[in-house]
Amino acid sequence: MARTSAEAGEVVRVTEPSDEMTPFEAATFFFHETADRLGLADEMRQVLATSYRELAVQIPIRMDKGKIEVFRGFRIQHNGARGPYKGGIRFHESADLDEVRALAALMTWKNALIDVPFGGAKGGVQCEPGLLSEGEKERLTRRFTTMISYIIGVNRDIPAPDMGTNAQTMAWMMDSYGQKMGYTPGIVTGKPVELGGSPGREEATGRGVVMCTMHSARKRDMKPEECGIAIQGFGNVGYWTAALAAEEGCKILAVSDVGGGIYNPKGLDLEALVKHQREAMSVTNFPDGEAVTNDELLELPCDILIPAAIEGVITGENADRIQARMIVEAANGPTTPVADRVLSGRGIAVVPDILANAGGVTVSYFEWVQNIQQFRWELDTVNKELQKRMTTATESVFERSRADGTSLRDAAFDIAVERVAHAAHLRGYV
Ligand code: NAD
Repeated sequence: MARTSAEAGEVVRVTEPSDEMTPFEAATFFFHETADRLGLADEMRQVLATSYRELAVQIPIRMDKGKIEVFRGFRIQHNGARGPYKGGIRFHESADLDEVRALAALMTWKNALIDVPFGGAKGGVQCEPGLLSEGEKERLTRRFTTMISYIIGVNRDIPAPDMGTNAQTMAWMMDSYGQKMGYTPGIVTGKPVELGGSPGREEATGRGVVMCTMHSARKRDMKPEECGIAIQGFGNVGYWTAALAAEEGCKILAVSDVGGGIYNPKGLDLEALVKHQREAMSVTNFPDGEAVTNDELLELPCDILIPAAIEGVITGENADRIQARMIVEAANGPTTPVADRVLSGRGIAVVPDILANAGGVTVSYFEWVQNIQQFRWELDTVNKELQKRMTTATESVFERSRADGTSLRDAAFDIAVERVAHAAHLRGYV
């Protein structure tokens, strides 16, 4: 069911946070608090609180059984002051205008914070990808690409994978775009390596999450290699976060997918779990652990909690019961503004999404650079460059938080919004 959305260009501001806020209201709540702290002029606030361009499209496709079904899709370009618009495409039932708008704005802040020369965008198709055949997914992707082809481009707007989409989806997008415009590998990132994708892109978001988690834990005087971690979501980001954190010596105590979770206080055997997931199409019913719900997973005893699925899961209702000492937001927007205040009051560090999951877009940037230069980097170069950027951004957020006495989220938003506002001013937007 679609949420009611504000008009395009309308400034949305909810001053008293509640768990009933929509994703866009929650994202703009954090922005307005930042604008207040920075003393942004009203015109600048209006430019940065709203999207630059919003495209909503109908996507009729023929289903395998012969019937035509009409899906809704969106491409939202939030702000392009620092470079071409950049952000993933989400296939999910909740991907409505409000959610995609929120995610587009978060991309602007994330790209500024990690300091890649991109603005922010996001796309979405409201569908249940698990119920679609490969053929239906391909037709949906190709038609959606055609519908948004007027506003994307290598120097204009570059999509990537997000929830419900993957390297194959990007290959179809690149092919559809190329049929009209000629061979254009830089039109999307997160492509298969054989088609010009970057080595290391598939695991980049999880790798960045782990780099940021290790760094942040040390900053909080925790020994990360001795930490027990619970992870919600076991898709691209959740899986790679688990696998790479385990390589660092962390114990993965619990993971989940949409069907539920699995918990073992002694640590899960990831290799066996992945085998089980491949056969059963879910992590649920894994024999070597105790079944937990997605809600229970968030409240398990652990050192570090990593939400890596959907937004709005840590709320005013459960924030009091979270036992982790640190939360690392691998998902976008998993903590509501109400929960954020509760956690801050309890001294639980929240490493914000725009920092923690920025590894994906960073390697997407490397992929785009390689495509433009028609040159391939070695995996080792990609990972070293990623480490440099994650370290610099994490250090700057901790330093700003220490200097200003603010939370890590506030510090991250302050740095990001300042950079975008400065670029917008230099360009003469306001
Ligand atoms: P994915 O589709 O590969 O995996 C999503 C996982 O979440 C799956 O395990 C799925 O079963 C689970 N899930 C779906 N709905 C759920 C629900 N209602 N409750 C609990 N679990 C649920 O997606 P992904 O690419 O891993 O993305 C996960 C999160 O990370 C999203 O918030 C996305 O925006 C964010 N993110 C992804 C990337 C990327 O490069 N893929 C980059 C930055 C941020």
